[in-house]
Amino acid sequence: MALTQERNRLLEYPVERLAEVIKDVGFKCTSCAKCCTRVFNGHVFLLDRDVSSLKAVDPSALEPAPDPEFCDKNGIFYVSGYSLRTQEDSAGSCWFLEKGRCRIYNRRFAICRIYPYMLHREPDKQGIIDWRQFSGLDQHGEYDTEIPYDVILDLARETKEYENAFLTQEIRFLEFMQDYFSVQGLRHVQKVYDNQLKRYNQGDEITIMVFCDGSLKSHRIRKKKFKLS
Ligand code: SF4
Repeated sequence: MALTQERNRLLEYPVERLAEVIKDVGFKCTSCAKCCTRVFNGHVFLLDRDVSSLKAVDPSALEPAPDPEFCDKNGIFYVSGYSLRTQEDSAGSCWFLEKGRCRIYNRRFAICRIYPYMLHREPDKQGIIDWRQFSGLDQHGEYDTEIPYDVILDLARETKEYENAFLTQEIRFLEFMQDYFSVQGLRHVQKVYDNQLKRYNQGDEITIMVFCDGSLKSHRIRKKKFKLS
C-alpha cells in the first residue's frame, strides 16, 4: 500500500517542476565514469525490459540485485530483480565499462539513460522526507550548463517514467510474494535472514530467487572477492 501511495504521488508530480530543477542545476557529464562504478553507486538495478535487452547483448552480465527483501525458513532469499554485474577491480566497475567508456552506450539501460536525475522521496540529513532529484550532486560532472528546454523536458519525462516503472515492478514483486508465501506455507524469518547473510558474507554459497517477468528464477551465488589496488 505504501508503494502504491508513493506511485500515486509520483504520478501527480508535475514533469515541469522536475524540468525546472534540471534546468537550474544544468548538469553536464564530463565522462569521469564514476557513476558506472560500485564505489559511487552500490548497484545498477535493471527493469524487466532491461533484462530482456541485456540477455540479447550478454546474459553473463546479469546478477541478482543485492539486499534481498525476504528470506524463508529454509534459508532461501528473495529479491525483486536483477542488477548489472560488476568487474572484480577495486572500483567495482560496471561489466560494460572499458577504459572509462561504456561499451554499449547506444543500448545502455533505462537507469543509465536518466542518471543522475531521479524522482523519489526519501529523508534528507535532517530526516525530512522530500523529493530527491539528483544523485551525487556536486560529486561529479559540471554544473550551470545551458541545456535546450526540449532536451530538459525529455529528461524529466523519461525520469518520471523510469521511477513509475521501478515502483510498478516493486509492487508486482510484493503482490507476487504475498501469494507465493501463502500458497507455499512460507513466511519471512528475520533470524534466518541474518544467519544466511552472515554465511554469505563469509563466502558460503547461498540460494536466491530473483523476481523477473512475473516469476521467480533460482540462482546459487557466492560473494565476490574484489581485487584491491
Ligand atoms: S551499462 Fe554503460 S552506462 Fe550503464 S553503468 Fe554500465 S558502463 Fe555505465
